[in-house]
Amino acid sequence: MMAGGAPAYDYIVVGAGSAGAVVAARLTEDPKTSVLLIEAGPGDAGFFSHVPLWWAKIIAHPRCTWMHRAAPEPQLEGRRLPVPHGKVLGGSSTVNGLVWVRGLEIDYRTWEEMGARGWGYQDVLPYFKKSESWPGGTDEWHGRNGPIHVENARWKTPLGDAFISAAMDALDLPRNDDFNGPHANGAGYWPLNTRRGRRSSTAEAYLKPNRKRPNLHILTEAFVTRVEFEGREAVGVVYEQGGKVQRARVNREIVLSAGALQTPQLLQVSGIGPGDLLARHGIAVVQELKGVGENLMDHVQLARIYETDSRHTLNAKVRSYFGQFLGGVEYYVGRVGDRSPSALRSPVPITGRRLAWNSPTSIFTSCRMRQARQAMTLPSNRASASPCIPAAPRAGVMSASSRRTCGSSLRYSSIICPTKRMSKLS
Ligand SMILES: Cc1cc2nc3c(=O)[nH]c(=O)nc-3n(C[C@H](O)[C@H](O)[C@H](O)COP(=O)(O)OP(=O)(O)OC[C@H]3O[C@@H](n4cnc5c(N)ncnc54)[C@H](O)[C@@H]3O)c2cc1C
Repeated sequence: MMAGGAPAYDYIVVGAGSAGAVVAARLTEDPKTSVLLIEAGPGDAGFFSHVPLWWAKIIAHPRCTWMHRAAPEPQLEGRRLPVPHGKVLGGSSTVNGLVWVRGLEIDYRTWEEMGARGWGYQDVLPYFKKSESWPGGTDEWHGRNGPIHVENARWKTPLGDAFISAAMDALDLPRNDDFNGPHANGAGYWPLNTRRGRRSSTAEAYLKPNRKRPNLHILTEAFVTRVEFEGREAVGVVYEQGGKVQRARVNREIVLSAGALQTPQLLQVSGIGPGDLLARHGIAVVQELKGVGENLMDHVQLARIYETDSRHTLNAKVRSYFGQFLGGVEYYVGRVGDRSPSALRSPVPITGRRLAWNSPTSIFTSCRMRQARQAMTLPSNRASASPCIPAAPRAGVMSASSRRTCGSSLRYSSIICPTKRMSKLS
């Protein structure tokens, strides 16, 4: 249907990422509901995005990720850390680390206590179950028939096992073989959203099977620059595609699912946000709303690299072309080799040569900390300008210790850490 020259839809969903792809697919289950889904990135990120191990190749690829960087970090001599986000159908679910672990029950409880009624854990649990195809079948915590496929770690190594044992010994953690079950605490292998070793993103799980629905219209490489208002009512969006400025009108609702950075940015450039910020950039205020862009939460990641003389590392396997060839064959034949997901996401993913080029072999582990980065702000009144992301707040001291090593020697090699003090793994 056309309204005022622009096509009109019941819903316009901006951003086809983890959220937007699901929303568009669910809304169009009703054949009478028309949905326009607009995605800034391309329809596919290519071969590398489907093979989990090549994750490292795509998280910083300008074709399928936004190349955002945070403000200079004073503790890192002014370095600007990358803040990767997906820019492709499936959004960040097409480029992310594939770890299939839900938020903690306490997170949802806290939201509910803060007033977000309907977001308690018991409210959201049925949707988690509905979304997944869990290998163990349906029970109180898991679903069996959802579109996202989940698999347990396939490639387990003696080093990974030893790392888990060390965590249990040294930190008194329980063994946990199911982080989505009744307890999220513990040490174990992560489950991954993959299907026979291939990434199960929201693009694969929700859009691909439904792309032919006549009521689902998907635009790719189309960048929404603002929401249009008549008075205080949102009536459509303006977007750019192929160098042309276009418009779409909405009959019912516009869903902004452009990610944690660009959703508030779109609201701000469209006139919804803190009044002083909008005034600074000459944006006409539609609705002053101070919270827009505030309380950005992030998990800052520390990478630690250890040297080992064990031969059970990915380095040892991929050092020679023959080893790489064998790994490729293993993956394609059985989806269990070193390009299978667990190689990437065992608790001890092993570095490629670039990270530890001078080590005989090495172990790479990462540690995440949830951090509030405070407010995301606008650099200008254009949606295309990369948002200003504040530096991570100063982190505390990280320490780790282990009484047991891996049967092989395990020696601290280097640590990339936002604090000046570093602890040594012994
Ligand atoms: C590198 C990386 C690793 C991660 N690892 C994990 C993990 O292992 N496990 C886990 O659970 N989570 C992980 N995450 C987090 C998880 O992927 C994200 O929290 C989740 O995908 C966010 O979903 P979203 O729908 O909010 O945004 P996204 O999935 O990022 O989708 C937003 C979409 O909107 C599009 N968009 C933005 N602006 C516009 C515009 N103006 N016009 C049109 N389209 C626009 C973007 O291109 C993008 O496709 C990771 C994230 C990243 C980036």
